[in-house]
Amino acid sequence: MAKAATAAGIAQGQCLCGKVSFEIDVPARWAWHDHSPASRRAHGAAYATYVGSWRKRFRITRGKTEIVRFEDEATKSVRSFCARCGTPLIYERPRSPHMVNIPRALFSGRTGRQPLYHIAIEELQEWAYTGEPLVPLKGFPGVAWQRSKRKKRADRDGMF
Ligand SMILES: [Zn+2]
Repeated sequence: MAKAATAAGIAQGQCLCGKVSFEIDVPARWAWHDHSPASRRAHGAAYATYVGSWRKRFRITRGKTEIVRFEDEATKSVRSFCARCGTPLIYERPRSPHMVNIPRALFSGRTGRQPLYHIAIEELQEWAYTGEPLVPLKGFPGVAWQRSKRKKRADRDGMF
């Protein structure tokens, strides 16, 4: 176990630039994938994966003054992010005032919860990667790709 320095029962995370860091007591309350358009845009990603923590088990350990808030007028949800690097940090929803939701990707270690749940799965984008088999791209080290479906179909046709 390389990360023995981490205090027992705590999961730590930080933003990209490192100005803001935080921790939660583990295990987290729950974890899920959020496919809603709002979270997709807020993260600039196919979907966001969150860890939900009780507010009283969440602590900003550095950089509190670097955090800025954006309130969505329509939903009254609040998204906080690092003013320096733009990393999304906290997502708060009015229907769950005792919970804070933190992007799973910001944690360096385990949070005690697997993201088993999906919100707005009907919004899953057709361009999102969902685990299709990949092969190395010849001539481009470090690049893998998914063979085009048309070719795959042609291969299958040849088999029968
Ligand atoms: Zn930052």
